[in-house]
Amino acid sequence: MVPLSWLVEEGRSLFVWCIRCDHHGTMAVAPLVKKLGDDFPIPRVAGRLVCSRCGAREFTVNPNWNDVDIPGAPRSLPAAQR
Ligand SMILES: [Zn+2]
Repeated sequence: MVPLSWLVEEGRSLFVWCIRCDHHGTMAVAPLVKKLGDDFPIPRVAGRLVCSRCGAREFTVNPNWNDVDIPGAPRSLPAAQR
């Protein structure tokens, strides 16, 4: 699994999405690295979050591809929902 340090190297934030209530947004990586460590796998961050809106612990977690504007690159969110 890809570790948090990869996000730091790439200069990306983390995109998190609550599966239950659709609450979503980006998270800074630095505080997560401080708390969980460089080697913490990105997918496992999902298990460490609590939704501030509905209190659920069910998340999708992805690198925030929107930080870098590469034509044809995958997007975390369809443009219409931003
Ligand atoms: Zn929620």
